[in-house]
Amino acid sequence: MVRRGTLDGHAIGFDAVKLGLHDAVGAAGAGIDYRLAREATLSAWRDGDLSTEQVCDAQRELRRNAEFCGSDLSSPCPVCEKDGLVEVTYVFGPRLPKHGRCVTSDKEMARIDARKSVSQGYVVEVCTACGWNHLVRSRALGG
Ligand SMILES: [Zn+2]
Repeated sequence: MVRRGTLDGHAIGFDAVKLGLHDAVGAAGAGIDYRLAREATLSAWRDGDLSTEQVCDAQRELRRNAEFCGSDLSSPCPVCEKDGLVEVTYVFGPRLPKHGRCVTSDKEMARIDARKSVSQGYVVEVCTACGWNHLVRSRALGG
């Protein structure tokens, strides 16, 4: 069942349960790929088990981040089929804002990765047109 959640106390503006973020937290080390969960969500939507409102539920903050710090995927949205699909990278960890930092450059990513403290990075696919959003992958940084 889809419901709103938070990630380890972080209010991040997307659905932690739908995205499987509870599993992501604590699973440090190797990266985790969420393509299967993404496909399952889309297939549930196609079958009518999830409404468009449920899968296109990006909150204002996530949409804003998608517009200003998303990287263009140059592929159509799986839901509305419009251009405007981007990936937003969030990093949570020590010395980072509680709501996570939206990382826009490889340089900044490399800097966080070079730290002794461990942070967790999440890449979220967001459609700036309809609000479709899903976790794509996560991995530990630093340490
Ligand atoms: Zn869309």
